[in-house]
Order: sequence, then C-alpha cells, then structure tokens
Amino acid sequence: MSTIEFNEMWREKLLNRFLSYVKIYSTSDAESESTPSTERQWDIANYIVEELKTIGLEDVSIDEHGYIMAYVPSNLENGDQPTIGFISHYDTSPDFSGENVKPQVWENYQGEDLILNKESNFTLSPSKFESLKKHIGQTLITTDGNTLLGADDKAGCAEIVTAAEYLIAHPEIKHGRMALGFTPDEEIGRGAHKFDVAKFGAEFAYTMDGSEVGELEYENFNAAGAVVKIHGLSVHPGYAFGKMVNASLLAAEFIQSLPANETPSTTKGFDGFYHLMDVTSDVSECKLQYIIRDHDDEKFEARKKFMEEKVAEFNEKHGEGTAEVEIKEQYRNMKQQFEGKMHIIDLAAKAMKEAGIEPKIKAIRGGTDGAQLSYMGLPCPNIFAGGMNFHGPYEYVALESMEKAVEVIVNIVKA
Ligand SMILES: [Zn+2]
Repeated sequence: MSTIEFNEMWREKLLNRFLSYVKIYSTSDAESESTPSTERQWDIANYIVEELKTIGLEDVSIDEHGYIMAYVPSNLENGDQPTIGFISHYDTSPDFSGENVKPQVWENYQGEDLILNKESNFTLSPSKFESLKKHIGQTLITTDGNTLLGADDKAGCAEIVTAAEYLIAHPEIKHGRMALGFTPDEEIGRGAHKFDVAKFGAEFAYTMDGSEVGELEYENFNAAGAVVKIHGLSVHPGYAFGKMVNASLLAAEFIQSLPANETPSTTKGFDGFYHLMDVTSDVSECKLQYIIRDHDDEKFEARKKFMEEKVAEFNEKHGEGTAEVEIKEQYRNMKQQFEGKMHIIDLAAKAMKEAGIEPKIKAIRGGTDGAQLSYMGLPCPNIFAGGMNFHGPYEYVALESMEKAVEVIVNIVKA
C-alpha cells in the first residue's frame, strides 16, 4: 500500500542524494565551543543549501551558525493550514570515524552475511543483527567497515529534501506550507541551541531522526546531573593509624548505598535510574559523577531528593561535611508540551497508517533536539528515519525505509 507513487526515478533521486550526503565528512566535536563545532560541517551545509535552491524552494537561508531553513509554499486556495516543519541534523557522531565514508549498495538483499570489507573480513550478519531479516528483498546501504555510515541523520536530511522536491513536482497534491530545517551539532547535544524558532515560523514540527520504520516518539527522560564529592584526610600511610580518612574507600561505601537494580543496565521502558558515569579519586578527595533519569515528573523529583538524603545519611555516619552533592537540571520530558496538542501526534500516526505502517509509539530513553525545541515553543516529536545500528561501522539503512519516511512526510503536509 502506498499513497504516493514512488517510481524508479524517485528511488534513484533519494538514493543518490543520500549517497552524496554521506560521502561528505561532517563529524561534530564536543570539545569545540564554536557553532558549527567543526569547520567541515560547512561543506555539507553549503551543499544542501545549493540543492534546496536548485529544487526551487522558497526563502532558502543559512545563518552564521549553519542553521538552514527553507519552505515549500502552500498550494491551497484558503491558506489557513498551519505551517508544518521537518528537521534533521547534518553532523555525524564523533563516537566513530565519519571521514572517507564509502557507502556500499546491496540490491535485493536475501538475508545472507554481508562481507563489508574483504581485507578485514568485516561482516554484517543477521545472526548478530536480527533486524536485517526485516529487509529481505530490499536495497541496503552499508559502510565498508571502516567508518560509520551517517544515516543518523543524513537519511533524515535526504528524506525531507526529497519530500519537498516531490511536492513541488506534484502540484496536484494539495498541501499546506512546509518548513524545512537542517541543523549542525545534534550529536554533541547542541543541535537546538541556536535554532531560531520564531524565524522558522512553524506551528509544530517533527525531527526525522528516529531509527526503525514506525517509530514515533514524544516522550523522553527528565534529566539531571549530580556530582558527589567525598572528602578524606591524607596522611603518610606509615603514620596513618587512627588518622587517615581514605576518600576512595568512603566513596566505595557511598556507591553501594544507591540501589543496584536502578542502573541503565538493569532498567528499561519507563523505569528510571541512577548512573555512575565517572569516578576520579585519591585519598584526600573523590568525585563521583552521576546522571539521574526518569520519565515521570514525580519520580524524577523523588530521585533527586533520594540522592540528597543518601548524602545526608552518609554525613550523619561519617561526620558533617564528609560528603556534598550538587544537582543540576539538564533537560525535561517533552510530554508536558503536548498537553492539549495530541493532534500533532495523531497526525503523524495517521500519516503512517496511510502509508501502511503501524506506528510504534515509545518513550525515548534519552533526550532529543525535539525535546529542547518543544521547550523553546516548537512542539516537536520524533519520527523514524530508517537507519539502524547508529554511531558505528555496522550502521545501515534500507532504501525502502527511507521511501516510507518520504511518504509519511508527504502524508503529514497534504491537506
Ligand atoms: Zn540523530
């Protein structure tokens, strides 16, 4: 079932567009303070801008921070439909090399092991990645085993641009105004930071940045960071009897006081956690860096309080001032921003069903740019872009998944 006619020519356009994007090196860098964080991101940004102009989009702009905006004007007689935005990021993750990406295209995949690299015998196998079995008969795009692919989120970029091009080529499809947004630095958590929501001018938007076909997300974690400092007393070990207080040993005790079954590896779904991210320690001081996560507002507040109580208990036992904690809010669950606005979710779910896709609504165990944008006044759920195994050399995407994403975009904006 298909609501748009995606013939061979459009498949080629989508595939070639995606391949041209992934070949452009655009890894972001968390160490850098500038926006975009890396000069190389301008290469793909400028490339996309030229493409948008060639296709004939309206008001194509790029600002000094690399944020791209463009529009497909409404072709409705009475233009009272809302402007609907679609957003993706063109940087790729610094977790793995994104330089010199050499994508490989595998037509009519039959469920076999794909030897991505003959020299290193690097293999993408359904015995390890079962999701591959969902793509029998489809066209897969993979890496050569040496880099990530960058389907996260160049698949989203290619889908949004192709959907816009499709709408322009099909004036018989009546639709409202479509806004396109492309950002740098999502992978380092700064994709939304300098996004000009007022200039974008959309009533609501969707990030095309999810994974598997059908994904639709409008809930994410509430998030805080907690730094616990434990103070010891350093004395020469030979003269330490009755004097030394070893902060490292105290820290070991504190770590044990938090629930062992409330960590990232022991929770899923809507269960929150405490995650010990980093420990730096010597005899005189230990610094424990935690993150606290929970979807539920009340439970999130309770978790932060629990952490403070544990520190207070610890001080009762070991003496006032032994431990201290500083808790900082990081981001909030975007769900609250959809109260009274569930039509935004329903519209996406309906668009998926029209494309023959069963929506999979689930809560993100992390944050998204959409969550930040939702708090900046632009409600912004997340929709699948089709890529799998993000941030590493096993990353792949099926062309058919990207086609479905294009179809969902068209279905959302059409009247
Ligand atoms: Zn992404």
